[in-house]
Amino acid sequence: MNPYAGLVSRLRAAWLAGRTRPMEYRASQLEALGRFLDEKKKSIMDALAADLHKPCFEVEVSEVILCKNELNHALSNLSSWMKDEHVDRNLVTQLDTAFIRKDPYGVVLIIGPWNYPVQLILVPLIGAIAAGNCVIIKPSEVSSCVEKLIAEILPSYLDKDCFAVVTGGVKETTELLENRFDYIFFTGNSSVGRIIMAAAAKHLTPVTLELGGKNPCYVAEDCDLQNVANRVAWGRFFNAGQTCIAPDYVLCSQETREKLLPALHHAITEFYGANPQESPDFARIVSDKQFQRLQALMDGGRVAIGGQTDEKERYIAPTVLVDVSLSAPIMQEEIFGPILPIVTVANVEEAIDFINARERPLAVYAFSSNKKVLNQVLKQTSSGGFGGNDTIMHMTLITLPFGGIGESGLGMYHGKFSFDTFSHHRTCLLRYTGLEKLNELRYPPYTQRNLGL
Ligand code: NAD
Repeated sequence: MNPYAGLVSRLRAAWLAGRTRPMEYRASQLEALGRFLDEKKKSIMDALAADLHKPCFEVEVSEVILCKNELNHALSNLSSWMKDEHVDRNLVTQLDTAFIRKDPYGVVLIIGPWNYPVQLILVPLIGAIAAGNCVIIKPSEVSSCVEKLIAEILPSYLDKDCFAVVTGGVKETTELLENRFDYIFFTGNSSVGRIIMAAAAKHLTPVTLELGGKNPCYVAEDCDLQNVANRVAWGRFFNAGQTCIAPDYVLCSQETREKLLPALHHAITEFYGANPQESPDFARIVSDKQFQRLQALMDGGRVAIGGQTDEKERYIAPTVLVDVSLSAPIMQEEIFGPILPIVTVANVEEAIDFINARERPLAVYAFSSNKKVLNQVLKQTSSGGFGGNDTIMHMTLITLPFGGIGESGLGMYHGKFSFDTFSHHRTCLLRYTGLEKLNELRYPPYTQRNLGL
């Protein structure tokens, strides 16, 4: 007997009883989630400090406020999102009612990663609740303090018959995935994404996969390079680089590189002081395994800025590498840490070729004071999202969808896109029962009459 079969059946029974469907119910659970965020903010801060040494400001903006914005947006728009969407009819259906019903899927599974362990569980959960589903959440075991907080405290805020938390790692998730779900929402790396999709395929369960990759960042010669350096350094070193949409590497000319390096050095010193290890505003690497992986990645290039490490603290200084080998692991795998390689290219065309020769990333960034250059990169590349003259900020706008393409994922969410992701768009046609004579045109036996001749 599967250890989670009983739990899944309990949620399915609540789903079949229609418990999560009424708007008032959905709103009450969202409000309860809001109370969790307000009342347990200190515990959330403490858990993230213990797991990642995450600075308070970063917790505030990238975990708490982001969830609250999603929550308030869902609460304000729930009634309009839930309304049937009436559509145009043709001549034959003029007297009928044709609409799209936003039906909940049923029992949903949400699996999260460790880098933004609160936001990346709660934002999908908000969408799934708003859409009227029952949900099992599986936070990452790597960010163990947040996992504990979510498992021990969150259930006391929510309806236990409809929402549950499962803890654990590979073994537990594998067992959980043997059960039939109606939707699976996964955030994590691309190789695990394949495992999730294969497990979902056994039950023909639809999936959203929010994955990772290497996000290129092209910098043209014509920029204010201090402005570029501030925005790139912020995006790369926020949460010590453990961000799925962080710029993974810079592409620029040799000449730009020489000017960008002192600007990056200036930005890093302004942000974190002369010794970032002493800064309260710089996070740590989540685990020893990740620390060792990142330390090894540094061998792929020459350190131009930073490079210091402290294994005891899992500290890696904000680091910029130059002269990187394109075949080294640093240019082959997602870095996911505070290391920024700079790769030189002759011009924007070469940068575009470089990007297109690799997997489609979650984000492409381009910096230029010339809109034509931004548009050229936008038009000639493909990625989940695009940021012109900044990094990361495109994911903060609730009116924009967020998701990957190809190797960086499939599906999208945030704001109304979350509601739509967790809703089955059901085709509904309610026919007029009169004028049966007209219907005879489609009934057999087929003769010239059927063709209206
Ligand atoms: P991960 O894929 O290792 O783990 C994610 C979740 O999957 C965890 O809950 C984990 O317990 C579970 N898991 C791991 N291995 C599994 C297996 N073999 N079978 C079943 N379940 C398994 O990812 P991570 O290391 O936690 O997160 C980092 C990755 O996530 C990076 O690649 C990053 O780019 C990506 N990410 C993407 C987004 C996005 O929105 N697209 C956001 C954050 C992180």
